[in-house]
Amino acid sequence: MSVVPPSALGDPCVLLKLGEVVLKGRNRERFERRLQGNIRAVLREFGVPFDLRQRHGVIAILLPEGTPVATADAFARRLTDVVGLVWVHRAWRVAKDPDAVTAAALELVAGRPEVERRATFAVRSRRRDKRFPLRSNELDRMVGGEINDKYGLPVRLKDPELTVSIEVDRDEVFVYTDGLPGQGGLPVGTSGRGLVLMSGGIDSPVAAYRMMRRGLQVDFLHFSGIPFTTSESIYKAYALMRALSRFQGRARLFVVPFGKAQQSLKTSGADRLQVVAQRRLMLKTAEEVAHRLHRDVLVTGDSLGQVASQTLQNITALDDAVSMPILRPLIGMDKSEIMAEARRIGTLEISELPDEDCCTLLTPRRAETRAKISDLRQIERRLDAEELAVRLADSIQEYKLDSPKAGSAETGSEQEPESEQEFAMERAERSA
Ligand code: ATP
Ligand code: MG
Repeated sequence: MSVVPPSALGDPCVLLKLGEVVLKGRNRERFERRLQGNIRAVLREFGVPFDLRQRHGVIAILLPEGTPVATADAFARRLTDVVGLVWVHRAWRVAKDPDAVTAAALELVAGRPEVERRATFAVRSRRRDKRFPLRSNELDRMVGGEINDKYGLPVRLKDPELTVSIEVDRDEVFVYTDGLPGQGGLPVGTSGRGLVLMSGGIDSPVAAYRMMRRGLQVDFLHFSGIPFTTSESIYKAYALMRALSRFQGRARLFVVPFGKAQQSLKTSGADRLQVVAQRRLMLKTAEEVAHRLHRDVLVTGDSLGQVASQTLQNITALDDAVSMPILRPLIGMDKSEIMAEARRIGTLEISELPDEDCCTLLTPRRAETRAKISDLRQIERRLDAEELAVRLADSIQEYKLDSPKAGSAETGSEQEPESEQEFAMERAERSA
């Protein structure tokens, strides 16, 4: 694309279509404010001035005159990460005059590959300002006729190969052809705060993403098998948090050294119940950490029946361990569906890196698929699990994100993120 916009096209801008937010009733304003805050936080990363305007279900990001097209393109790509938007259009802002709109549409179509292959096209206009002299269908016909005359493209209203969209707004007209799909969902931060139990596996990052998409702001808690495993799983958890931060901005990762506690469960005779007992202790610790951080819910990547610890009976036994609600967004998903989503959101390749997962430590040869709550409680009494969970919560270490990929300033932690170097130093200390 050229750096200087051709005259008829006006200024490059970005047009955003809101998702579920538009269905909100009286508290819609609260959702919109949060969404706007999240958008602003993401765009501030570019260090370029911009103006945000909202009208009805559309937000326009306006850039100062002379802003390179490449900047508007980069804005658009980055905005596809912001939860709450269904479409992101790189549009052109044109004067509110039918001739100016026609000239812009002709110029926009001129650069399209569809012209050469005589592809079908349609013009779709919308009039948010009813004072505009032409009605939508009149504008469609006028602009469509000109495109047809000039380039000889056949009109096809149903399933055209090229669509020219025209939106008449209060102060200007937006013209565009393509759109990038957004994340959908509700703006991060509108549904409260949660703590995600994140292993280095495939499922838990997807669970985190799913809850972010329902408006939950999340932090992460990882249990490492230290001192009986290496720190690899911690690096993976950190890398996963970093990858997910593009959807919500700042996030915090807390790590619990869990190896010794796992061993205590074994010596308390957990035997075939070892895995479920470990998961209960993780949940008890997570609940304690969540209380301290004022988080409202726990999130896990459980999927019904996926592994022995996730049978219906075992999941029921896990719920019994804590009183805080546990959200399991993947409960009804197949592994292949979860993997496809992990690939799309960019966490799969991190999850697939090798590591020593703490759960594989001390795994019994045959894991119990129908754990009895009374048996689990008995094991826990022997080692005073409640007290142990408090001590484990005391031992957490925080790994702050060095440079969040997106910053939702209003909802993030107050502390400044540490540098990559500090993280590397801590890492080296730990493995020494
Ligand atoms: P993945 O590891 O992402 O979830 P999985 O199929 O390996 O999936 P399990 O190991 O049974 O699942 O764990 C189920 C859930 O328990 C995880 O999704 C995660 O929420 C939590 N969990 C398991 N291990 C850990 C860990 N080491 N640290 C934090 N949470 C964990
Ligand atoms: Mg796992």
